[in-house]
Amino acid sequence: MGKLLARLDEILPAIRERDATEPEVFPAQTIADLYAIGVPRAPFSVELGGLAGSLRDSVEAVETLASASPSAALLICMPLSLAGFVVAGAAAAPAPHRAACAAQVARVAADYKAGLVYAACNSEKGAGGSIAATQTMAHRQGEGFRITGEKILASFGRRASHFFSTAKISPDDLPGAGAVEGFLVKTTAPGVEILDDWDGFGMRPTESQTVRYRDAPVESLLGFPNFLEVAQPIPYAFCLFAAVSLGCVRGLLRALGVPAPQSPALRLRLSEALMRYEAMRAYLLETADGWRPAAGPLYAARVVRAKTYVTQESTKLCAELFALSGGRHYRRGSPVARLLADSFAGTALRPPLPLALDALVESFPAIAADALDGREALGGR
Ligand SMILES: Cc1cc2nc3c(=O)[nH]c(=O)nc-3n(C[C@H](O)[C@H](O)[C@H](O)COP(=O)(O)OP(=O)(O)OC[C@H]3O[C@@H](n4cnc5c(N)ncnc54)[C@H](O)[C@@H]3O)c2cc1C
Repeated sequence: MGKLLARLDEILPAIRERDATEPEVFPAQTIADLYAIGVPRAPFSVELGGLAGSLRDSVEAVETLASASPSAALLICMPLSLAGFVVAGAAAAPAPHRAACAAQVARVAADYKAGLVYAACNSEKGAGGSIAATQTMAHRQGEGFRITGEKILASFGRRASHFFSTAKISPDDLPGAGAVEGFLVKTTAPGVEILDDWDGFGMRPTESQTVRYRDAPVESLLGFPNFLEVAQPIPYAFCLFAAVSLGCVRGLLRALGVPAPQSPALRLRLSEALMRYEAMRAYLLETADGWRPAAGPLYAARVVRAKTYVTQESTKLCAELFALSGGRHYRRGSPVARLLADSFAGTALRPPLPLALDALVESFPAIAADALDGREALGGR
C-alpha cells in the first residue's frame, strides 16, 4: 500500500462517522485532516512537502475517500487537480517559462502546506461543460490581468482561498495566448462575488456556488500562455472525477455486503456487482497509469472514454444496488440513498455525459483504428 493510502486509512473511520452524522454540512474537519496528511499536495515533490505521487496514487486515494464521503472526495479533487496541473505545467513549460512555472509550483505547494484551498471555478451556464465555450473574458491592466464573467458550480464556494478559472484573452493582451487560458484569482479580491445558491440533488456538503467576476484582479496566469493546449493537464482531473463515482459503488457494496447477507440470491447479485466494480477500477487505474503531461490526443480520448464509462456504469450499478438494498434504506438521508444521489454527479461533471458522448462519436473513426491496433493510447505500453 502506498504512503498516501496508509495515511488515509487511519483517518477514514472518523471521516465516515462525520459523513454519517453531518450529511449536509461542509466537511471542514475532514478537509483539514486531508490537508494534514498531505492528500492535496501529494503530486508535489518531496522537497516541496509532497510525496511525488503518481496520478494512480491520487485516483486510489480519491476512490477510497469517496467510499466513505463522496462530497469530501469531490472537494479534494479540486486542489489535488490543481497540484497535478501546476506540476504538469512545470514539466511541459517551454524554456522561457520554466523558471516562472517552477516558482508557481513552489508558491502553490507552500500555500497548500499552510492549508489554503485552490478550487475550480470554470463551469458556465449554457456552455454544456465545454471549456472551449467559455464566455468569461480576461484583459490586461498594467502589469496584471482582470477577469469578468459568471461561473457556476464552484465547489468550496467561499471556503476556497483561490479559484482557478478559465477565460478567453486576446493575444494582444497575452502574446501566444491559446483559445482559453487558466487564471488564479483570490476569492477575497474586489469584484469577486460568491453567491449562496447551492441546493444540490446529491453532494450537498460541497457548497458548489455561483461566482460572479466583475473586473476582478487576477493573482496570476496558470502556467504559461497556451498552457491548456501545450501541457494538456485536463485528463488528470477527469481521472480523479471518475474515481469519485467509483468510490460511491465501493461504498454501496460495503454497506450491503459487509457483513455478507444470508440470502444466496443477494450474494450472487453482490458478487456480480463486485466483478463490475473491479473491472471498472482496473480500467480507470490502467488509464491513470498512462498519464503524462502533453500526452497527445489519443491519450486524451482514452481518458474521456474511461471517465465516461466509469461514471455512467457506476451510476447504473449504484441504482441496481440501491434497488436491492431494501426498505430500511429507502429514506432520503440514508447513507445508501445518499451514495446513489452522489454517484449521479459523475455524469454531470466535466465533460458531462452528452458532451462526452459527442466527443466519443467524433473521435471514433480515428481512435478505433489506433486503439484496436494497440497503438499509443497509453504511451505505447
Ligand atoms: C456536484 C457538482 C460539483 C461541481 N463542481 C464544480 C467545480 O468545483 N468547478 C467547476 O468548474 N465545475 C463544477 N461542476 C460542473 C461540472 O463540471 C460541469 O461542467 C457542469 O455540470 C456542466 O454544465 P451544465 O450541465 O450545467 O451544462 P449546460 O450548459 O446547462 O448543459 C446541460 C446539458 O446539455 C448538454 N449540452 C449543452 N450544450 C451542448 C452542446 N452544444 N452539445 C452537446 N451537449 C450539450 C451538456 O453536456 C449538459 O449535459 C460541478 C458539478 C456538480 C454536479
